[in-house]
Amino acid sequence: MIWAISRYALALPGESEARPGTRSVRGAAWSPAPPTPVAAPRTLAVSAELCARLGFDAEEVATPGFAAIFGGNAPVGSILPIATNYGGHQFGHWAGQLGDGRAILLGERIDREGARWELQLKGAGPTPYSRHADGRAVLRSSLREFVGSEAMHALGVPTTRALCLVDTGEDVVRDLLYSGHPRPEPGAIVCRAAPSFLRFGHLELPASRGEVDLLVRIVDHAIAAHFPSITGANARADWFAEVARRTGVLMAHWMRIGFVHGVMNTDNLSLLGLTLDYGPFGFLDDFDPDWTPNTTDLPGRRYRYAAQPQVAHWNLSALASALSTLLPDTAALTAGMDAYVEAFEAAQARMWADKLGLADWRDGDASLVSSLLGTLHAAQVDFTLFFRLLGAQVEGGMAQDPVAALAPALYDPAGAGRALDAFPSWFGRYAARLAEDPQTPAQRRARMDAANPLYVPRNWLLQQAIEAAEAGDTGELHALMRVLGRPYEAQPGAERFAARRPDWARDKPGCSALSCSS
Ligand code: AMP
Ligand code: MG
Repeated sequence: MIWAISRYALALPGESEARPGTRSVRGAAWSPAPPTPVAAPRTLAVSAELCARLGFDAEEVATPGFAAIFGGNAPVGSILPIATNYGGHQFGHWAGQLGDGRAILLGERIDREGARWELQLKGAGPTPYSRHADGRAVLRSSLREFVGSEAMHALGVPTTRALCLVDTGEDVVRDLLYSGHPRPEPGAIVCRAAPSFLRFGHLELPASRGEVDLLVRIVDHAIAAHFPSITGANARADWFAEVARRTGVLMAHWMRIGFVHGVMNTDNLSLLGLTLDYGPFGFLDDFDPDWTPNTTDLPGRRYRYAAQPQVAHWNLSALASALSTLLPDTAALTAGMDAYVEAFEAAQARMWADKLGLADWRDGDASLVSSLLGTLHAAQVDFTLFFRLLGAQVEGGMAQDPVAALAPALYDPAGAGRALDAFPSWFGRYAARLAEDPQTPAQRRARMDAANPLYVPRNWLLQQAIEAAEAGDTGELHALMRVLGRPYEAQPGAERFAARRPDWARDKPGCSALSCSS
């Protein structure tokens, strides 16, 4: 098990030496970027599974040397830490060069099966791409990314992973509510892991500058390193279609579990179809298609839950235009966009069939889903709990009064009033549909419980773990990680992690809405 220089640094041109200061970096895909050491690195949590896979044994993980590496204090052998150069469309507007302003790619680890993983420190100090910011991250946002990415992996959603969370022993100053009251907060670094952190924006930037040679080299590197089965004369067109298909499948997963990314800018969309950049993300509590966890996005709600599939399509068209010099035949780009729609629709049909326990999906089922979602919204029903309660009812032959059985998922039983009146007729339609379904009730329940998680990293759960960790107690963080590691299995004693959002969390910062100040 060894460290290696990243293939990205080896395959693509970079700046020749590390220099302080921020700048516009042209004609180069990356810059050397050594981490800036911190005062007192201390490991707060690790992903035991990923540590084992990447060859860090439990004994090593507990040493100060491990914290020193992942706090950015101890260089690893001869590897070359870099920050990569990318641009992006933010909230619909071209933003120019962005780049890894606080992410440093240490190098790669080769796992037991020979797969290569990029290891990246987020919050390890300034890089040439830090613009006016400090290159650091606060504990609250790092803990959220650490738990969020490992939870998504356990949920079966393609995602970047997180190896460990390290306390830096230094404060970072942030204005949490953008209210003109900056204050010091504990700083931390999360080590992320993925086959690649390539984003749509890595291609948009050279395309925007007319750096066609660089664009070609990055595309061909991405294909060779991460899509080795795609070869031949049409490789670039086939590859774009594959990126589009993966993005479509990813959107269906997000919709299935009620995940809202919050900042779906093109610099935050992965070319590998992974969930990437956990900032002000959230999970639906009461079902609201217009909900966004991101306070910065509240005026436009561009990145609200229901808009995500459409936004991904918009982002793919931005990627397509960046590729248009390489793929002058617009038919190839159109075919790629069509591949997105097809992959998303197929994955979405499958996921709704699974969520409702149906062996197959029929045309009329879409109206069953839309009328259900309308009622869940009007009656303020918890999205996650509803489908678990429905699964239990389905197995019991829908014997219980269906509305009474929903009580644990209701946020405002009194206020729901008339909205709940729509449920009995919906349940009637659903029961009629189930009567045509060939599975046994037990089979249906198993299908539903495998598609409908019981435990998701709700913002208020993360906030409790954050407040405890800020006070020096990581017990809540570890308890949360344990439960979220098996999100589809009811775990005795873990009931509080499956509860609907408590009243105290309704409007509290960090629980209902999150700022980007991280
Ligand atoms: P995000 O909105 O978090 O995806 O970040 C957008 C851009 O801002 C990326 O180029 C980040 O690297 C950069 N950025 C965000 N926060 C910081 C920070 N504290 N220091 C330096 N760069 C940052
Ligand atoms: Mg980002």
